[in-house]
Amino acid sequence: MLPFESFTYPFFDQNTLADHPAVVQAFLSTADPSIPGDITPGNKSLYIHIPFCDTLCTFCPFVKAANAGPERVANYLRALHTELRTIAATTRVGAWVLDAVYVGGGTPSVLTVEQIAELFAVVRDCFQLSADAEVSFEFEAKSVDEDKFRALVEFGVTRVSFGVQSFDPATRDMVNITASLEQVHAAIEWSTKYFTNTNLDMMVGFPGQGLDAALLDARLAGTSGIRSVSVYPVDYIMTLPGWQDRIRRGDLPRPADLDERSMMFHAARGELAEHMGVQNMYCFGDPTAPPTRYMFSTLYGGYRDEAVGVGSGAYSIMRGLAYYNEAGEAQYVQRASAGQLPVVAAHPYHAYEKGLVFFPKRLTFDLRDLEVLSLTEVYRPRIDQLIERGFAVTDGDLLRLTPDGELTYSELMAHFFSDSQHRLYGRLVNRMNQQVGQIDDVGWISGHGRQRLGAFNALPDAATPRRQLKLVDAP
Ligand code: SF4
Repeated sequence: MLPFESFTYPFFDQNTLADHPAVVQAFLSTADPSIPGDITPGNKSLYIHIPFCDTLCTFCPFVKAANAGPERVANYLRALHTELRTIAATTRVGAWVLDAVYVGGGTPSVLTVEQIAELFAVVRDCFQLSADAEVSFEFEAKSVDEDKFRALVEFGVTRVSFGVQSFDPATRDMVNITASLEQVHAAIEWSTKYFTNTNLDMMVGFPGQGLDAALLDARLAGTSGIRSVSVYPVDYIMTLPGWQDRIRRGDLPRPADLDERSMMFHAARGELAEHMGVQNMYCFGDPTAPPTRYMFSTLYGGYRDEAVGVGSGAYSIMRGLAYYNEAGEAQYVQRASAGQLPVVAAHPYHAYEKGLVFFPKRLTFDLRDLEVLSLTEVYRPRIDQLIERGFAVTDGDLLRLTPDGELTYSELMAHFFSDSQHRLYGRLVNRMNQQVGQIDDVGWISGHGRQRLGAFNALPDAATPRRQLKLVDAP
């Protein structure tokens, strides 16, 4: 497994000197160019970031804050509404018909019903939504009651999702997940009562967590009554320095090494597949009900699929440009409230290969896109390598990941990076290592972790033997 696999694509070149807000402004002021011969419009998604939480989980890398008083929240929401209107007034995004709206965070459910109502009113005032648009809302089990779920239905929300991460009380305590298991089960009951599209997130690879515990967690999630479960490996690069320091000092148990964590992740996937259908690399549920359109058909979608993000630290990924917003709340509020684009950095880049990079997460790729996007010459040989090594097969027009391909999915994503993006990925991981600490220092990554960084665009020789994944039966 790659040491860092929860990325968006393309990566940013931090060495670019430019007036980034002006670059974004100019880009958004131009009409959407079409691809010659292409009749597929792609998904258009809007992401809205609410950075407030009741309490902070120690592993969480997202832009968030606890203990924000009512005035601070109100100021943030005013700035957010202004940014929504600013973005919707641009030539490029203003023309979009949204296929998905995703309200995430942080914890959007810490907002009052009145604040949520006003937010959706602004969204609907500014943007046109498609008839079948997915409107997704993240909540946290402590900040919901039945009235809030009823209100979300009224506001047109179609999907709700929340993080459980683990059902083990000791693990939850260790990472400061403060909702009780009673609150978790009440949230599952209310969400499935009011919504057909419901999800809970789990994580595998916490400090001290072993295979038995990971399998038990997966079983509890898969039989909890929720309609879909997403499971992700804990990412020790995309995390907080303080958490890593506590592990180094021995205040927390040492996590399993990268290879063992990868094995636990795939074993948990196998356990979930016993109870639910497989939707993609992370998501389990009804295989005919696609997982969140914002994430898996837009962020992890192809070149045509575009997302605009509003709020502190939000990312926007479009055809020809990616950019992200100011993460500091005060600076964000100041700039957005003044009607400015609160952009920190932009990276002009046409990520034609994005659909291939994320193919291992989605499990399929439409091969007809090779011709339309003029990718055949560069990428057909790389696809053939995958097929020769048993990591993928063709099925009509689709390229499908095989079970062996699933075990090496993150290395396969890197196989499709362009050369320039390959270099930026290496720089990004090195920079995060410096910010968070050299994770190799404490030996969390088995000896070859570092070498992998230098050779991550090479295909592995063979997948981990599948028999290794069923080491023990779940208790
Ligand atoms: S995991 Fe969710 S609730 Fe916990 S700190 Fe992060 S955003 Fe807040």
